[in-house]
Amino acid sequence: MKIAFIGLGNMGGPMALNLKKAGHEVRGFDLSKPACDKLAAEGLNIATSAAGAIAGAEVVISMLPASQHVEALYLGSAGLMEQIPAGTLVIDSSTIAAATSRKVAEAGAKRGVAVIDAPVSGGTGGAIAGTLTFMVGGAEADLERARPVLEKMGANIFHAGAAGAGQTAKICNNMLLGILMIGTSEAIALGVANGLDPKVLSEIMRRSSGGNWALEKYNPLPGVMETAPASKGYAGGFGTDLMLKDLGLAQENAAAVRAATPLGGLARNLYAAHSLAGHGALDFSSVIKLVQARAA
Ligand code: NAD
Repeated sequence: MKIAFIGLGNMGGPMALNLKKAGHEVRGFDLSKPACDKLAAEGLNIATSAAGAIAGAEVVISMLPASQHVEALYLGSAGLMEQIPAGTLVIDSSTIAAATSRKVAEAGAKRGVAVIDAPVSGGTGGAIAGTLTFMVGGAEADLERARPVLEKMGANIFHAGAAGAGQTAKICNNMLLGILMIGTSEAIALGVANGLDPKVLSEIMRRSSGGNWALEKYNPLPGVMETAPASKGYAGGFGTDLMLKDLGLAQENAAAVRAATPLGGLARNLYAAHSLAGHGALDFSSVIKLVQARAA
């Protein structure tokens, strides 16, 4: 299949490479030259513009930071949607506002372009291993068209509902993730302040009732888990500012439906303080720095 892949960052880069490895003809594009150069060095075909990437593509995939980037790409003055031929399938895997996903889907429907929102979970490790979880919003038939492509990048594919529903599922998940990373950090920092070995404590909690994804795959303390961003200076991974964006989306959504999300609100404020302290570009698990100082 001919696939255009727009947005070759921490997630999009390895996702595009997995599609190439599976035998698809992938042409990528990113506004960042270093991102393009990195992927070109790994053998990916790179276009000089988004329009160049989509030329002749049967499927267009985007993996961009936030709503405004997705809007600018498809609906902005460059207006990619105007150039995508009818019959093309668009898969947007960025985590953005459900309302923006619906707007892009409506613009596509007017032109005969099928659009699904398919945000992911699983982190950069999942993107590299091709084991992501996809949460899809859109028509069932469009998901079935996308499935063979999604299967090359992910291990779990869920149909959450109509357009935008994938995004709603994603922000519920990330609100929980944001909260549990802070809770896990607090527990580890407390143990360390009492002289416990963080590796031993982490293993005890991982196998006890406090067990969770952070303890399984993403320990926030440097040196506990070799593969986690914490052990790589919190580089790569899932940026604090991206987590802050997702928690903001969750709060906007909660306000709209008048839901009570007290811990989600507190978590958003803690990541905001962490970002203001200059850590916005670090992986979100660096939020442990907030509570480490308190424990010390
Ligand atoms: P990233 O910042 O590493 O990559 C985003 C890329 O998009 C950048 O390279 C940027 O230059 C590019 N870009 C922005 N606007 C563009 C445009 N108009 N055209 C072409 N390229 C453009 O971000 P990421 O970590 O890869 O995350 C991407 C999305 O996936 C975000 O919505 C994020 O919330 C979500 N997500 C990330 C993770 C993670 O662990 N990193 C996990 C799940 C979901």
